[in-house]
Amino acid sequence: MRDEIIERFTKYVKIDTQSSEASSTVPTTQGQLELGSILVEELKAIGMEEVTIDENGYVMATLPSNTTKEIATIGFLAHIDTATDMTGKNVSPQIHENYDGESIVLNKDQGVVLSPEAFPELPTYKGQTIITTDGATLLGADDKAGITEIMVAMNYLLKHPEIKHGRIRVAFTPDEEIGRGPHNFDVKAFGAKFAYTMDGGPIGELEYESFNAAAARITFKGNSVHPGTAKDKMINANKMAMEFHSHLPQEEVPEKTDGYEGFYHLISLNGDVELAKSYYIIRDFDHDAFIMRKARVSEIVKELQAKYGEENIALEMNDQYYNMKEKIEPVKEIVDIVYRAMKNLGIEPDIRPIRGGTDGSQLSFKGMPTPNIFTGGENYHGKFEYISVESMIKATQVIIEVVRLFEHEA
Ligand SMILES: [Zn+2]
Repeated sequence: MRDEIIERFTKYVKIDTQSSEASSTVPTTQGQLELGSILVEELKAIGMEEVTIDENGYVMATLPSNTTKEIATIGFLAHIDTATDMTGKNVSPQIHENYDGESIVLNKDQGVVLSPEAFPELPTYKGQTIITTDGATLLGADDKAGITEIMVAMNYLLKHPEIKHGRIRVAFTPDEEIGRGPHNFDVKAFGAKFAYTMDGGPIGELEYESFNAAAARITFKGNSVHPGTAKDKMINANKMAMEFHSHLPQEEVPEKTDGYEGFYHLISLNGDVELAKSYYIIRDFDHDAFIMRKARVSEIVKELQAKYGEENIALEMNDQYYNMKEKIEPVKEIVDIVYRAMKNLGIEPDIRPIRGGTDGSQLSFKGMPTPNIFTGGENYHGKFEYISVESMIKATQVIIEVVRLFEHEA
């Protein structure tokens, strides 16, 4: 299992599959189709059935049931794309066997060092095999570790028919990092009652709560007049945008909140005297508080409209995804079974709310409750991303154990 994990993982990360917000094609980048096609061939090669890739780049496959018991079809998902924050081109994975727990010089020329001072969790990996970047790119463990773990688990189950299981579906999806992954996901064609995304962080992570999320774009129209003769005439759009921001609770921002606290986050602000545009994201775990936050944004816009003229301030606000807890809580047993699987494997489950969303946040609302399980990776989306092979083995074993428990307890 170990060699197969390293072999598959290092192969997948070398293919550039960064998604792109700027693209309107599906998937947004060609590299995702390239890896998708490779995965199709590999799924067929290990003996999976009903292997498909649709025109949008969604890969699906089936591990048929090998029992006569009536068991719900369950699914495992991982995303093909990597984050847009840092380049995913020419990824060169570095394998550090029997890691000594000390600093690792990732890139001598650029002075990039992965150190326990900056990343205090590092020494806990002492003695393990960790895979890092070369300091110039992201690694893409998010989520190629998830793909690897699902592939290796399916291969294992196919080679061990003595482990009884129901019908298992797997899917590899594009464009998760830019939030478009679930948009074209055909829940009906997938045909699983429940699913799990393999898309979490360090060993033990198990998540079934996410933010409720909305985005707000506000446009301020000013009136530019020569500053020498501007008295009582000029309306500065930049200042309107600043005024709007000053009306928001200044403590409720990402850099000052954690746990279950929500926030307003100013992502971008562009402007001149004539025209300014603010882009915010709004996040809260609690449904009512989420509604209140959106109402607050609308109210401030109304106040400023009353002051500067209705036509001079425009608000565009839309919901992005919702807290999947609402859909998972009624079928909480699908979380509990993972909890037991981890315990059986000697892993301490770490259940925590995701301060973000996963594909599962949207898929749960499309009728397929989908909690999230760890892959083992650390420091996602940047050059300090790394993953332990031992954690990947454990994640693979969790998949196998969950599949086994679903049969065993049916
Ligand atoms: Zn991910």
